[in-house]
Amino acid sequence: MIPRFDVATLFVDMCMAVTDESIIGRAQRAGKISVNYFNIRDFAGNKHNRVDDCTYGGGKGMLMQVGPIYRCYEEICRVSGGKPYVVFPSPQGQVFTQRKAAELAARPHIMFLCGHYEGVDQRVLDEIVDEEISLGDYVLTGGELPALCILDAVARLCPGVLSDESCFTEESFQDGLLEYPQYSHPSVWNGREVPPVLLSGHHANIAKWRREQSLLATWKKRPDLLEKASLTPADRAYLARLEREEGAED
Ligand code: SAM
Repeated sequence: MIPRFDVATLFVDMCMAVTDESIIGRAQRAGKISVNYFNIRDFAGNKHNRVDDCTYGGGKGMLMQVGPIYRCYEEICRVSGGKPYVVFPSPQGQVFTQRKAAELAARPHIMFLCGHYEGVDQRVLDEIVDEEISLGDYVLTGGELPALCILDAVARLCPGVLSDESCFTEESFQDGLLEYPQYSHPSVWNGREVPPVLLSGHHANIAKWRREQSLLATWKKRPDLLEKASLTPADRAYLARLEREEGAED
């Protein structure tokens, strides 16, 4: 069975415009993943197709109601023949990471529930949601953008989605470090040269340079990541040298 992603949203066209293009679009057409959309409004169950109402207890803004979302979830279970792992993008969840993307990529069937307005009636969240995931400590207008970000990061880890899987074994966060800088043609642009080691053809030196550049980028931009990264004795020696040399310049 290929990995299946179902998205429950009020804005199907907006989401499809993203996932029908580029790598995720190609992966669907090649049968490597399946992405399906369900418009929550189709499950409104009233003649005005309303899916929101005001909140009990007062307060500004409208809330997405339980009925349409639960009926949409039941339809997803029916057409897929099973219960999906339900992700609710929410500022109240744990912040999304590459590690979480890898964890989700092992699941065969994920449903994203995209909230809107002031949010979603808590009872349907308690009933169907397996995990809340945040994109960061800020508030967006809806769950579509975070759902698409999470879907994209998870789908590209699914087998066959990227043509060369070494793309993600070497990139940022995969081993807890940021990626080294990369260069393409021309070798000199605007007076800026590609580091000579990359033109040397010496594979061991290139690998050493890349590792050190990865450590340097992480040390400069995200030193917090170094605490959890898996480091060799040579990595530690390089970082100690950086501390001595560059740290002394500050
Ligand atoms: N009233 C809610 C609160 O304070 O938690 C925020 C509602 S927000 C305007 C509408 C929807 O956008 C949320 O239900 C959620 O699905 C989504 N959303 C907003 N910010 C998000 C974030 N940082 N990460 C993930 N989803 C987010």
